Amino acid sequence: ADYAGADATVQATNDSATVSKASACSLGYFDDPFVGHMAVRGPKGRPIRRAPLINRCYYVRHLGITQLQEAFLSGCISPGEDYNVVVLGAGFDTGALRRTWPAGLKDYYEVEFPAVLQRKQALLKRANAKLPSWLRSCGADLRKPKEVEASLRSQGIDFSLPTLLLAEVVLAYLEPLEGDALAAWAPGCFPNSFFGVYEQLGPLDAFGRFMLRHFRERQCPLRSLVARPDLAANRRRFGAFARVDAVDMMSVLAATPKEELRRAANLEPFDEFEELHLKCAHYLVLAAMHGRCASSPAIWTG
Ligand code: SAM
Repeated sequence: ADYAGADATVQATNDSATVSKASACSLGYFDDPFVGHMAVRGPKGRPIRRAPLINRCYYVRHLGITQLQEAFLSGCISPGEDYNVVVLGAGFDTGALRRTWPAGLKDYYEVEFPAVLQRKQALLKRANAKLPSWLRSCGADLRKPKEVEASLRSQGIDFSLPTLLLAEVVLAYLEPLEGDALAAWAPGCFPNSFFGVYEQLGPLDAFGRFMLRHFRERQCPLRSLVARPDLAANRRRFGAFARVDAVDMMSVLAATPKEELRRAANLEPFDEFEELHLKCAHYLVLAAMHGRCASSPAIWTG
């Protein structure tokens, strides 16, 4: 995409994620009628197909995000009670459109750089997607939590409602102190909140260093990876929340029904299990919970 200015490289990371999600979706790993319309195409306008290992990784990422969403919905709200969803660094995320949100969803905010949101709106319009009335675009810079808060307030958000905040591969693109500030700001602003994170886990071993080099070669501006080397450091970052659970993606696989894993296993030939497990050990899901959300049941063991 033709983004301009100092944040262009960070904004473009969303294009790569969208291509990978569209690839995994086209093979049947998960359902998403929208992502294919937003993915950059290859030569002759053909959809780009990722390697099986990448598709699997995006499948596991999808499982992790779904587990976070379900944990919020089943553990933080009573049936029919009002709630909000706030997706931070939403990019071309289609969570608002591709899944059913139970009754009570008041507003669903996508917080992003305005340039990314504008492109997303144009692509969805071209795809004739029908946008729900509760979906709101919130152009704001996550490096300035007070700006995010003001932008949400100007759109009439009720901060007191149980709120699912989601950051899927976003915090690593902020400077470490900026990510810390966002994590510290959230529970004060949202007294009943569930902050779900999917993120790289800082590399300490050889595979981790390989991953870092891989991102650097692609000029991927990962900023706070090294600063958050393990689960404990990631939990500490969310220390302003009443409770924090964090596990690597092996625990997400362990929490997935076996029939579902068997279904996915048959979608394309695959034998790189060692690489997949190494990758899974280098990504985490984290749930930081505050107020009423802090008493929701545990999602993962391990
Ligand atoms: N969450 C989406 C997903 O998983 O498909 C997009 C992930 S993409 C790797 C990272 C996104 O974070 C980009 O869309 C980028 O523009 C956004 N982002 C990074 N820094 C940001 C900031 N300071 N303010 C707003 N958005 C930001």
